[in-house]
Amino acid sequence: MILANENFGKLQSSYLFSEIAKRVAAYQQANPEVKIIRLGIGDVTLPLAPACLEAMHKAVDELGHEATFRGYGPEQGYGFLREAIAKKDYQARGCDISASEIFVSDGSKCDCANIQELFAQTLRIAIPDPVYPVYVDTNVMAGRTGPAVDGRYEGLHYLESTADNGFVPAPPEAPVDLIYLCFPNNPTGAVATREQLKAWVDYAKANKALILFDAAYEAFIRDPSIPHSIYEIEGAKDVAIEFRSFSKKAGFTGVRCAFTVVPENLVAYAKDGSEIRVHPLWNRRHTTKFNGVSYPVQRAAEAVYSSDGELQTTEQVDYYLGNAKLIRKGIEALGYACVGGDNSPYIWVNVKGDSWAFFDRLLREAQVVTTPGAGFGRCGEGYVRISAFNSRAKVEEAMARIAKALRA
Ligand code: PLP
Repeated sequence: MILANENFGKLQSSYLFSEIAKRVAAYQQANPEVKIIRLGIGDVTLPLAPACLEAMHKAVDELGHEATFRGYGPEQGYGFLREAIAKKDYQARGCDISASEIFVSDGSKCDCANIQELFAQTLRIAIPDPVYPVYVDTNVMAGRTGPAVDGRYEGLHYLESTADNGFVPAPPEAPVDLIYLCFPNNPTGAVATREQLKAWVDYAKANKALILFDAAYEAFIRDPSIPHSIYEIEGAKDVAIEFRSFSKKAGFTGVRCAFTVVPENLVAYAKDGSEIRVHPLWNRRHTTKFNGVSYPVQRAAEAVYSSDGELQTTEQVDYYLGNAKLIRKGIEALGYACVGGDNSPYIWVNVKGDSWAFFDRLLREAQVVTTPGAGFGRCGEGYVRISAFNSRAKVEEAMARIAKALRA
């Protein structure tokens, strides 16, 4: 008899974005004439930067000639991209990360989802609330939790991110083994200071724990005092894995390219307390289950680090940050408290009530789609996330409509 993985049955029903899509589709069907503006899902809207496009075209042409054709590449990524990442994203910021510690992949979603395979079933796992749902759901699928009770899975340690802690949870009193952190945060847009990250690194060291640091939105940091990488914190190389993505940094959500940094000397432990290096485990997993990102995509990613690419992709991020500023200013002018939007494309708005009701109100009265905070966890109740990924004209139109609706 083929037995199913019954852990899937524990997953809480509809995935957030499918519920949103259902409500938006129903509204659009009932009101076919209205033009809905989407500030919900975090997908980029600007076209690829010319430097990336040019590099990709050139690489495609190379594949059309016998002398420059390439078949399977190294699963970990081509040296040219790994070297560029190590040099520009890390060594340039004083982080001692080498190319051999970079694993190129087709997305941070997969990497954040897959990394848990390297670790034992019995881990005590700390996960922020609210949270990017992938961290939680992949541990549920893997059987590391009990059932969900009142929206929370038994066996997980939730790190509450609330207005009281500025949406940056401190390390818990209780010992935990695996810690998911994400800064700049999705969904709250909050960023962590050097001191706050240091407290986590110190905690991980003291507890022989491991931090999974999701820095998918690193490119949005503009405050020079905010670390871009966990490795800017002394000692982090011993206790942290970092995820980065070209999705939001360079508009690669459809192109697909990201990377994970696994330091060579990072260790986990065997039951007898002996050390097991994590780098060979991830290398083995990656080479067994993944066959590399396509050559033209890696050339396009490499072009992000060229002088033109840096300029063009920074301009794109600045454009979204300009949208974010408008949204935040507009929302605050209406008397709502919010965070984010200054070093992040997301604005986290305290709606002073039920988050799905506020979502429905903005959809009905302003024809603007946001994301209800409750979909990201219990602490997201009472908030909506507004995304800055759209054109300036649509953001301006959306804010005018929201102002009209909320003032009415
Ligand atoms: N991590 C966070 C926090 C995200 O918000 C997202 C995408 O929205 C990802 C990872 C996934 O990025 P990628 O497109 O590289 O899979």
